[in-house]
Order: sequence, then C-alpha cells, then structure tokens
Amino acid sequence: MQPISTPPLVPFLSNGPKLLFIDGKPVPARSGKTFQTINPATGKVLAEVAQGSAEDIDIAVKAARRAFEGPWSRWRPADRQQAMLRLADLIERNYDELALLDTLDLGAPISRTTLGRKRAGALLRYYGGLATSTHGETIDSSFMPHESLTYTLKEPVGVVGAINPWNGPIGMAIWKLCPVLASGCTVVLKPAEQAPLSPLRLAQLCAEAGIPDGVVNVVTGLGDAGAALAEHPGVDKVAFTGSTDVGRKIVRASAGNLKRLSMELGGKSANVVFADANMDSAVAGAAMAVYMNSGQICSAGTRMFVQRPIYDEFVERVAAFAKSIRVGDPLDEATQMGPVVSAEQLERVCSYLEIGKAQGARALAGGARLTEGALAKGYFVPPTLFVDVRDDMRIAREEIFGPVAAALPFDTVEEVIARGNDSEYGLGGGVWTRDLNNAHRVAKGLRTGTVWVNCYQVLDPAVPFGGYKMSGFGRESGNEHMQEYFETKAVMVKLDS
Ligand code: NAP
Ligand code: MG
Repeated sequence: MQPISTPPLVPFLSNGPKLLFIDGKPVPARSGKTFQTINPATGKVLAEVAQGSAEDIDIAVKAARRAFEGPWSRWRPADRQQAMLRLADLIERNYDELALLDTLDLGAPISRTTLGRKRAGALLRYYGGLATSTHGETIDSSFMPHESLTYTLKEPVGVVGAINPWNGPIGMAIWKLCPVLASGCTVVLKPAEQAPLSPLRLAQLCAEAGIPDGVVNVVTGLGDAGAALAEHPGVDKVAFTGSTDVGRKIVRASAGNLKRLSMELGGKSANVVFADANMDSAVAGAAMAVYMNSGQICSAGTRMFVQRPIYDEFVERVAAFAKSIRVGDPLDEATQMGPVVSAEQLERVCSYLEIGKAQGARALAGGARLTEGALAKGYFVPPTLFVDVRDDMRIAREEIFGPVAAALPFDTVEEVIARGNDSEYGLGGGVWTRDLNNAHRVAKGLRTGTVWVNCYQVLDPAVPFGGYKMSGFGRESGNEHMQEYFETKAVMVKLDS
C-alpha cells in the first residue's frame, strides 16, 4: 500500500486561522473561538477555522439586509448576469485550488473533485441566463369592472440563510449561491464544520468578481450557528441541505417569522436491475451509484434490487467490481475512492457493518474498516456489498452515508415498485433495462424526486432535483428552483375610459 502523500502548501491555508467572511471582508468570530478541520486521509489537523455563533450570524444577517436594500437592489438583471459570468470564469480559473481544498478537507479523490469544474461553470452560466429571463406575466382580468391592466412582478424573497452538509463543499455552496445571485437576494451561508474551507475561498472570489459587500456572507461554525440562522427573524428563507433530523429542527425553528423553506434531505434510494439489462453498464453503474464519493451522496442507490434470474451472477460481478476500486491516497490521480469524512462518520458506517452482520447479512465485498499500513490513520472503509439482506433489516432501511450496498432479489415489476416505495425516503432511484415498459413503469411508479434510466447520479443545472416524502421539499436546479427565491406580487390597474 502506497503512503499517503504530504499535502502541498496551499497559500489560502498558510496564514493563520481561516476567518468568517462578512460584509465583504474576513473577520474573526466575536468570541475569538476557532475549531479545527481535519484531513480524513491522515487524521491530522488541516486548519483552524473561526467558530461563528449566534452573535456573528446576527452581524452577517444585518449586513445581508443592508446589501439587499442597498445598491444591490438597483442592479439590473443583466448586471447580475454579468457578475455571475465573471464569477464562473474566476471559479474555473481557480478550480485546481478549490478542488485541492475539498480533497484535503473531505478526503474525496482529486480525480473526482477536479471534475467539479465543469458543473461549477455550467451552474453559474445557466442561472446567469435565468437572471435575465425570469419575469412576471400579464393577465387579462375577467373581474375588473372597467378597462384594466393586470400584471405580476417577481420580487426577490430577501435574505436567505443557506445551510450545507459536508459531502460536496464547493459544488453545494455554488448551487446555493446561484438562485440567490440570479434573483437579487442576499445570503448568509453556514457550511458544515467538517469541510468549511472551499466555501470561505468562494466568498473571496465573489468579492473579486465585483459582487457587492454583504451580498455573500459565509459564517463557519458548529450546529449552533446553523440553529441561530434558522431562527433569526431577519432571515426570509432557509435553504437547507442535510439530514432529515436537522431538517425537522429547522422547520420548527423557522416558525417564528414563517420563513420560506426548502429542504434537501436524506435518502435510501432503490436501484432496480432487470434481467434484460446491459450487464456491463449495469454492474459498473449500480456499483458506482453507491460507492462514488465513498457513498456520501444523498441519492446513492443503496438498495440494489436485482431480478432473480441474474441475481447470483450480478452480485458476484458487483463484488468483483467493488474489490477492484482503488481505495487510498486522495491526492493520487489514480485513486478512485478516499476515506469517509470524519472519525464520527467512520464509527457510524462501521457500526452499520456490524449491525448488518448481526442481523444475518453477509459481506461479499468489504465489510470491515481498512487498517493496513498507510491507511490505518485515516478513515477508510472499503466498498461493501451485503447479500442475504431482508427488506426489514436496518441496513436496508436506514441511511448509512457510507460505501455500503444492500443487494435484494426481486421477481416482478409490481413487486419491485412496491418494495422500492416501502421507505420513508423518496429522493433518487434507478432502473436498468432494455424494456421500455419496465423502464417507464418503474420511473412512474417510484415516489421519488428523480429516476435515472440506464444511468445514475447525473445532475444537470436545468433539471430539478429534490425529494418526495421525508427526503424533503422544494427543488434545486431548473426554473422551479428560481421561483422559490421570488415573491409574486399582483398589480391590478383600473384604466380611465
Ligand atoms: P447534518 O448533520 O444535517 O448537517 C447539515 C448542516 O446543518 C451542517 O452545516 C450542520 O452544522 C448544520 N446543523 C446542525 N445542527 C443544526 C441545527 N440545529 N440547526 C441548523 N443547522 C444545523 O448533515 P451532514 O451530516 O452534514 O450531511 C449528511 C446528510 O445530508 C445526509 O443525511 C444526506 O443525505 C444529506 N444530504 C442531502 C442532500 C440532498 O440534496 N438531498 C445532499 C447532500 C447531503 P455542523 O456541520 O456544524 O453540525
Ligand atoms: Mg475536514
């Protein structure tokens, strides 16, 4: 096993603790406190980061309010579009650094984090287009007694509190920023404590792109900072991505001033492989639907339903594929899978490996933490495939958020739709088949926000993404996403005859 490389010097990390970014400049937390972010490949401290709390959130929300009511409110759609296009160029130019920060902070392999460049640019350019193409409508009123003119105005909802998880730090921060900038809102972003670095660097790039002070604020910190944002009466909308448990807390905290909410939450998605599927692409597709990003993707296809005639062969092939995945040093270009994000996540994932075995499942691949040689100090779990799984086992019902798949045989299309829907979640889903009927029946039958057919985990800036049931509500990407950042005002005018 090759050793874990020593991280290269990143200028952004070299001069002291990383500060909050409020009102256009870096500032320490009012309390003076910092917390440590850890490199999960080595278990070593990567950086000290300012630990914002309720007081810092209050200062950031007030800055965001001033910016919302100030010059930013007079920027025309085309001005916002131009700023977004400048930001897209700047982000692309600086993406090697952003990808490296995510690789060090999250442990995702550099071969994966650098791929984010394309999506980052595409998101900003797509929403830049929406900035100039989203507008109200005119309506012919039937109920005005005189000649009349009726129209609607789309007005930005105001100050947005964005709260993010750690599994895609830069991509998720840009995703939250896009509708804010396109609509003319302002934002206070609270990144996850496990991976706060690239969002702080992003805030600097926003300033460099000419986005006015106070429009984009980033307050790093722990859960209490997120809670303060969710409660703050000066916040008009909360856009949350994270666990269903924290989502529930945010719904409660938001009641004070009836904030608009969008919730992108957890999942336990069904990926259905029919006997007539193209085996080569289904094996690789179903495996990577779970193992990509060490399984730390909300829509991971962790319930792998396989039609009985091919079940034995299919699980053998997925197990062989899992064993062939190169797990190791995230800085090595050849690595396909890094560690999980934190010691806490390692413990959580390993506890599910034990629960699976204790309930009678058998690991055809993986099944225990990697402790050999160079990997022993990091948080490495191998791609794991469980067979002999029943639908009622905890590994088949609960979100693990690690590289752990549960294979389940099925016989008929009706049966697999019913079993696929027997989950409190409804985020993603997949179907692998050459039969149009099966493809569309599963696509229509699954109560989930996305169904991929003969592919998985494809995200497109124009295509809405989000959950049914306890996977949340609201959609990110697409025109629907933009609408969630507007209030609609109706104006009814009586014309003199
Ligand atoms: P998490 O524990 O819910 O944390 C998400 C964010 O909420 C973090 O910034 C966290 O801060 C903050 N937070 C914690 N307590 C809070 C509170 N009481 N009020 C407001 N904010 C609070 O989730 P995670 O462990 O970071 O991420 C994993 C989860 O995210 C999984 O369940 C996954 O499915 C979900 N996820 C969903 C999507 C999607 O699009 N549907 C995408 C990615 C991930 P701290 O980091 O400081 O605790
Ligand atoms: Mg970290």
